[in-house]
Amino acid sequence: MSDQSAAVLPPALTSLPEDEQLFAESVYQFADREIRPRVREMDDAAKIPAELVGRLFALGVMGIEIPEALGGSGGRFFHSVLAVEALSRVDPSIGVLVDVQNTLVINALLKWGNDDQRRRYLPRLATDMVGAYALSEAGSGSDAFALSTRAAEEGTDFVLTGRKLWITNSQEAGLFIVFATVNPAAGHRGITAFLIERDRPGFNVGRKEDKLGIRASSTCELVLDGCRVPRANVLGEVGKGYKTAIETLNEGRIGIGAQMIGLAQGALDHTISYTRERRQFGKAISQFQAVQHQIARAATELHASRLMVYEAARLRDQGRPFLNEAAMCKIYASEVAERVASLAVNLFGGNGFVKDYPVEKLFRDAKIGQIYEGTSNLQLETIAKGLGLKS
Ligand SMILES: Cc1cc2nc3c(=O)[nH]c(=O)nc-3n(C[C@H](O)[C@H](O)[C@H](O)COP(=O)(O)OP(=O)(O)OC[C@H]3O[C@@H](n4cnc5c(N)ncnc54)[C@H](O)[C@@H]3O)c2cc1C
Repeated sequence: MSDQSAAVLPPALTSLPEDEQLFAESVYQFADREIRPRVREMDDAAKIPAELVGRLFALGVMGIEIPEALGGSGGRFFHSVLAVEALSRVDPSIGVLVDVQNTLVINALLKWGNDDQRRRYLPRLATDMVGAYALSEAGSGSDAFALSTRAAEEGTDFVLTGRKLWITNSQEAGLFIVFATVNPAAGHRGITAFLIERDRPGFNVGRKEDKLGIRASSTCELVLDGCRVPRANVLGEVGKGYKTAIETLNEGRIGIGAQMIGLAQGALDHTISYTRERRQFGKAISQFQAVQHQIARAATELHASRLMVYEAARLRDQGRPFLNEAAMCKIYASEVAERVASLAVNLFGGNGFVKDYPVEKLFRDAKIGQIYEGTSNLQLETIAKGLGLKS
């Protein structure tokens, strides 16, 4: 084999083109400098300061796939994955803020929005408006299309009544994509997506959840009480909201995979530096083979999850089927994140159990990866279906 044949080999799965590498590095540097010093304070206060959200806009990570002509960064889905990973390495709460903005809200508008809607909302979403994505309700989580929020047609408007639960970014958001049914008898074929601005009469952000993890990320109830929305704010077609929801969530879960590999990387970074410093029995605890092997296994699992997340994101950007890969990367990355964060707590000893050190938070944060954007059981359902096991 000549050297020339080696030169034309496709790149390794994790070798990123220069633009992606520089982008990921710059987002991580920002997170390390601007976010890391505030992680504890944000977790305690269960709040992301508005000024930090403003800096995320200035960094260009709030409108990654929005075309430059509309004020965005003109990137690909893969850039969103890299941003979510880099931010989550420092704080998964910031990771999910950016994830929902890009992989759900902007993604849905780019795909389903008409020209008028794109012109009205995308420049704002790129510069100063946070978005939220409201599908879940008290009675419909995994069974999302059993939702009961009603959109009654009145002339050229729809009037929405109902409640949404668990909505990420609600505290900060100016725009909400809200799913409601125009005809409960039609089942999923009645579901319709609406673009609702925060200040629309009849729309209110309700109670904020007090959570185990990702505490700084806001999760609230939404109350729609006769909220009148013009037909011009229907996203996609009336009765086709189920398609919008399925398709965006299929892509969004790759973002959650990215959040989880970022979290696991953060836990691993802390573990490696702590075990090198902490001395017992006259040496650094990293010198014990049992400790080394545990860390080596964590690094191996993290590497495997990263390959899975990147592969799913690449398939999505290339317009190739990615459904199973997305479900697989989310389930695996979220389990690995939980294991790596748990190991971090163990290897920090007593210090792993207290808030003065960063790993107990990552352990708490990891749990959400197996719940939102489709629980692990629901991901397994998707994978089993993809394998032809379901009739
Ligand atoms: C912090 C947080 C943020 C969130 N953000 C958003 C958001 O921004 N927008 C939004 O719309 N939603 C959001 N959610 C809601 C989230 O997507 C749902 O909580 C999730 O889909 C699970 O629904 P559920 O809580 O009703 O659980 P359930 O559906 O009641 O599930 C409970 C258990 O039953 C299992 N189960 C259910 N059905 C099956 C089945 N058919 N087979 C096997 N097992 C099954 C599940 O796997 C789970 O273990 C958020 C939730 C949280 C906690």
